[in-house]
Amino acid sequence: MNKIAATLSFLLIVFCLSANAQPDRWQQRIAYNIDVKMNAETNRLSGIEKIDYWNNSPDTLHRVFFHLYWNAFQPNSMMDVRSRELGKIELGTDRNGNPVYDWDDRVRDRIQKLQPDEIGFDSTEYVKLNGVAQKLIYHETILEVQLKTPLLPHSKNSFEVAFNCQAPVQIRRSGRDNAEGIRYSMSQWYPKMVEYDYQGWNANPYIAREFYGVWGDYNVNITIDKNYMLAGSGTVQNPNEVGFGYQADNVKIKAPTGKTLTWKFAAQNVHDFVWAADTAYTMIKKQMPEGPLFYFVYKKVDSMQPAWETVANTIEKAYPYIAKTFGAYPYKNYTFIQGGDGGMEYPMATLIKSASVGTAMHEFMHSWYQGLMGTNESLFAWMDEGFTTYAEQRTSNWLKGDTAFAFNNSYNSYFRLVKSGKEEPLSTHADHFNTNYAYSVAAYSKGSIFLSQLGYIVGEDNLDKILLEYYKEWKYKHPNANDFIRIAEKVSGLELQWYKEYWVYTTKTIDYALGNINVDGANARITLKRLGLMPMPADVLVTYKDGTREMHYVPLNLTFGAKPAEDTVKTIVHEDWKWVDPEYSFTISRPLTDIKSIEIDPSQRMADVNRINNKIVVP
Ligand SMILES: [Zn+2]
Repeated sequence: MNKIAATLSFLLIVFCLSANAQPDRWQQRIAYNIDVKMNAETNRLSGIEKIDYWNNSPDTLHRVFFHLYWNAFQPNSMMDVRSRELGKIELGTDRNGNPVYDWDDRVRDRIQKLQPDEIGFDSTEYVKLNGVAQKLIYHETILEVQLKTPLLPHSKNSFEVAFNCQAPVQIRRSGRDNAEGIRYSMSQWYPKMVEYDYQGWNANPYIAREFYGVWGDYNVNITIDKNYMLAGSGTVQNPNEVGFGYQADNVKIKAPTGKTLTWKFAAQNVHDFVWAADTAYTMIKKQMPEGPLFYFVYKKVDSMQPAWETVANTIEKAYPYIAKTFGAYPYKNYTFIQGGDGGMEYPMATLIKSASVGTAMHEFMHSWYQGLMGTNESLFAWMDEGFTTYAEQRTSNWLKGDTAFAFNNSYNSYFRLVKSGKEEPLSTHADHFNTNYAYSVAAYSKGSIFLSQLGYIVGEDNLDKILLEYYKEWKYKHPNANDFIRIAEKVSGLELQWYKEYWVYTTKTIDYALGNINVDGANARITLKRLGLMPMPADVLVTYKDGTREMHYVPLNLTFGAKPAEDTVKTIVHEDWKWVDPEYSFTISRPLTDIKSIEIDPSQRMADVNRINNKIVVP
């Protein structure tokens, strides 16, 4: 073999190895260098962002889009209209008999009532491509940039955007002067490039929820009144200049000479950047032995102190379990920031209100499914909110030392949604659900059941391996539903396409029931019925009068295999249940008179919408 051939075959081997180890889907790449000045008297900021943009797609792009989120906070914006329209839908009545409407209480009709100095806006002076100003077309929260020279496939180009914004009064997520008096909660604040991926442009007008961004690096310099302390995504690059607790031990901070201070942040391999500012912030730091460093930044008010200390101590205690179960948090630091209107996740930081441990835990777990995976949340909100809810519930149970099933709340809220008749498929675009109600139960509850129920189908040990493999394989890559299910299939050795198709793309429900128990010679014969339209494998626990128990497992033929035995009790694996058959019977090796009870899915991980018919107790 000559040298060139040897090199070529070496390259080929490397290419094949990496192609096998990693998904081969292309993705765009971005680097933002943002310089802004915040005027804390007018609540306006102006700045310039210089963007390097790698078009890694095979496509020639004749236009690009930017999000201008803050234009949503103006009377009659799409967000305002949508909120008021949903507010007309009556969902039922509360405990006092008053009607409950479908709007988000934080938004309601508040946008319509904003005065000119209270609205938000995001305007661009120019967008230059490689130094040349381009044609701009405004579509409220989406800016279309028509390019004079297109972006060629596999090319790198530079944009420069000059922008002016006004921070809206806090309505939803971002804004000024939130309910707890935090001056600035600065999310969705800069012109942000819309992601272009294998499904095309994701130019979703901002009407309420869910985000998606280009993977990249951020360098953000923020100049603001020197009395403000800041916190944000990324790591402070000039800690010994700004101080406020960020400085190294024993460093004396020189007082700034002018009225302002410039804060320099950097974040690598993220898809968004948030920051917040207040003149009364203080912080708690917690350094984990093998990383990360946690910051807890909150308003210095005596009444808040104990609650924030509890949040900090709880996160410190939970982190090793989280890292072991879901994968290590790979960035240097993470910041819990008091701000916003509830809890909202961003890469490397969260804005939370009222220092609740549950909210803090939920938002932190988003670091995996929003931060690290960067799933398209508009199309797969459940892979973010649902998986996050699963991780939050599981971690909370671990913290409490509770060994009971952690996910009952999700099942109960899903069952109520099914009963309401308002359910829509999980695959519905987040903005386009008919009600806020159906969206939130689908994304959070049905999405979290996707995982807990997968544990039922493949076994808990496999589920744990799947979670870690998913983290390993898909972080920084925008996985979709199919990418996840392929990981689950490869780890478990079971075929699971049917599960994804039924649970994600339909509203078909699960209902299994016990049928007749007959005599088969000396033995008992148990009949199961599938009453619901969605097929599942069946765990059937038989308890005998002498106290012994047997797990009878009926695999679904679509999985082409059986999960490993999960219980300490003896497990008997039966023939496959062909999904078309409404009934299935199996014989057990003991007489009818020995049986005390028979129960389908005693673990209750299967989301059976009618559990009344799942158990028989022999009198
Ligand atoms: Zn969430």
